[in-house]
Amino acid sequence: MDKDYIITIDGPVSSGKSTIGKILAKRRGMVYLDTGAMYRVVGLESKKRGIRSDDQAGLKKLCEEIKISFKQSKEGQKVFSSEEDVTEAIRFPEISLLASRVSAERPVREALVALQRDAGRDGNIVVDGRDAGTVIFPRARYKFYLDASVEERAKRRHKELVEKELEVSYTKIFKDIEKRDKDDRSRALSPLKPAKDAVIIDTTSMTIKDVLNAIEGKIGSCTSLLP
Ligand code: C5P
Repeated sequence: MDKDYIITIDGPVSSGKSTIGKILAKRRGMVYLDTGAMYRVVGLESKKRGIRSDDQAGLKKLCEEIKISFKQSKEGQKVFSSEEDVTEAIRFPEISLLASRVSAERPVREALVALQRDAGRDGNIVVDGRDAGTVIFPRARYKFYLDASVEERAKRRHKELVEKELEVSYTKIFKDIEKRDKDDRSRALSPLKPAKDAVIIDTTSMTIKDVLNAIEGKIGSCTSLLP
């Protein structure tokens, strides 16, 4: 089966995009691109350098200076800002909100979309994001949009943070998710929405296996590559 195609997986916070995207990419021998992690790196670096989320000139310069990269390791994919491993640091709730804020700014979107398109120029890639199917790769061969209720997504996020020993209350997570959803959906640039030709999957009461089956049902399974 040819692999020079692109699969996009969009959707709101904790809808299962990254879990599914990583497994799918591994099964099919494709690259996995976490575009949200890239916005998170910009959010983290803006905080470190004291650049306000609405300082467009400052953010433009920042995007020209930083170097975001992904490296595979035994524990999974690691995220680097220049030489620094920021895999954990970018997951803090404060950085989630900052990532959402800087992602609404044009210079940031332009810089990151250019990098993302470059990463996908030869295909063979699963792209997880908010605008992967609408803006980054509107001609992707397969497009999926995962959704789930806010309650279910808050539960998943809470469990993830508890496992990482990050003390955050369920109520705070619920509120943060509602805020990020609202901001991501209502922003002027590349708002979160399903592409017209995306397959929409409500994962609220589905297991990871159910979602994978639904996706592979659309693209054709390739059991020989099962990890
Ligand atoms: O997916 P994740 O929650 O890590 O993304 C962090 C934030 O980055 C999102 O809330 C969203 O505002 C922004 N984002 C975006 N476009 C993408 C991926 C993420 O605007 N393609």
